[in-house]
Amino acid sequence: MATGQRILVADKLAVEGLEALKASGMEYVEKIGLKEDELAAEVPNFDALIVRSGAKVTEKVLANPGKLRVIARAGVGVDNIHLPTATAKGILVLNTAAASTLSTAEHALALMYALARKIPAANQGLRTGALDWKKRAIYQGTQLAGKTLGVVGLGRIGQTVAVRALAMDMTVLGYDPYFQSATALDGRVTVVKDFEEFLKQLDVITFHVPGGAETKHLLNRDRLLGGKVKPNLLVINDSRGEVVDEYAIAEAIKEKKIAGAALDVFDKEPPPADSPLYGLENVVVTPHLGASTDEAQTAVSVDACTAIIAYLNSGEIRGAVNAGGIKLDLPPDEAALADLARRIGALLSGYSEGGFKNLTLRASGNKAPKVMNTLLRLAAVELLKPHMAPGVNVINVEHLARERGIELVQIHEPAPPQGLVGEIISVRVTQADGNSHRIIGTAYADRLPRVLRIDDFNMDMIPEGHMVIIVNKDQPGVIGTVGTTFGDAAVNIADMVISRAIQKDGGAQALMLIKTDQQPAEAVINRLKARPGILVVRTVELPKRA
Ligand code: NAD
Repeated sequence: MATGQRILVADKLAVEGLEALKASGMEYVEKIGLKEDELAAEVPNFDALIVRSGAKVTEKVLANPGKLRVIARAGVGVDNIHLPTATAKGILVLNTAAASTLSTAEHALALMYALARKIPAANQGLRTGALDWKKRAIYQGTQLAGKTLGVVGLGRIGQTVAVRALAMDMTVLGYDPYFQSATALDGRVTVVKDFEEFLKQLDVITFHVPGGAETKHLLNRDRLLGGKVKPNLLVINDSRGEVVDEYAIAEAIKEKKIAGAALDVFDKEPPPADSPLYGLENVVVTPHLGASTDEAQTAVSVDACTAIIAYLNSGEIRGAVNAGGIKLDLPPDEAALADLARRIGALLSGYSEGGFKNLTLRASGNKAPKVMNTLLRLAAVELLKPHMAPGVNVINVEHLARERGIELVQIHEPAPPQGLVGEIISVRVTQADGNSHRIIGTAYADRLPRVLRIDDFNMDMIPEGHMVIIVNKDQPGVIGTVGTTFGDAAVNIADMVISRAIQKDGGAQALMLIKTDQQPAEAVINRLKARPGILVVRTVELPKRA
């Protein structure tokens, strides 16, 4: 267990989460209601920060983050955290999206029942005395069993709603362009690829998609008023306000193009007092309460605290908002590939001229392609580290590279390069002058990293410790010169591979990859560079094998 780690809790958290912090043995301090300046002054003294929506983690708060490495938001929205600054400073931001899944799914189902059975209107009519008891059939509703429900977005909440709707004897269809199978939930949900085709079959539609440009007005005026939906359609939105066009919904209800709508989220929150939705009987509205249950509040606190403990203890990343899908808590086989990617990045950094345009990682095999994003970032960190101020890490490397116009590319190769088998990683760096270098490597069953190819030179060597890369003309005497030069300087050669490649002009060059027991002094390297026939001499310091 890591000790000496300090966690700042800057908003009120459910006690169950704090108990998890206590049990972890890490020191945590609760400071609630800090002003921006006060929070900025506290932050550098802590490894981790936990907030809900109260504490504002602004650009200013993160300007000098000291040892802060991770921020957890107990909840979903991260509007109170300045993500670009956190990312640029290499601070991981986590949220606890999964903690509110059940509560939000239940809320969507509650909205569905409330709308179908007109419960809010009937409740209102009875309490206010507006109801003529004999005419209570005005609140006659619609049974949900037997109806077709369309779930837009088959993620956590969408699937949780779907499984419950199936138990309610509804027929469930799904729409999710990122869901590749033809069915979901063991064949019980049919996934429809065409949105218009999907829409026209539905009695109820429920949205569980992220917000943003791609999902804006998925249910728009044309679809609502242009005869693309059944007139008995009930619309449920418990995801993000912008996903449906509220004004078009109100109009469609008035014109009886749809039967009603129940919304928990709005384009503007709170919605304007004169929202056209408010005057309509067949509308149910709640003020963004999807995740608002005692259980969800406990779950967000526990999830935020345990995610922080896991990250500080082992680097395991749960619920990352700004880590681009990287995984650091890798099983041993994948960890070996991560180690290889780091070593290839460091070798390339030493071997190439600075001023990079592009770093491309290709992966083939069963395991490497699954963690390409992590491998690419690990290689990129090592490539860029010597050329940047301290602080480049897997969180901010993409941002820092983009800022400098360096493109990071990952390609999944269906097969390894010719002549190679297994889990192969190939990393190519293109320099500003247009020249490029490529290193290919693998990790065998012993989980040790191997370099198999540097440019056109084939080899098989574990990259570790003090390394020297020499490229020379393929002519007699060079190997002897290298041996003597190191020998004269009392630098022992521990291991060495020599590889020859034929050049396009028919001439030949050789590459020596040498491991030495001591770091060779600069003077020795300069002596080597001055020897006839030697074209390139570079040194690289790598960690000893794990
Ligand atoms: P999720 O990431 O698990 O699932 C989202 C799904 O939407 C994914 O399967 C994705 O492939 C799919 N998707 C993306 N673009 C799409 C598109 N154009 N069309 C159809 N599907 C698309 O997310 P989740 O945890 O299920 O949350 C869903 C939504 O619920 C989010 O917007 C979240 O902010 C919201 N939410 C609301 C409340 C509330 O209080 N009302 C509470 C929690 C979450």
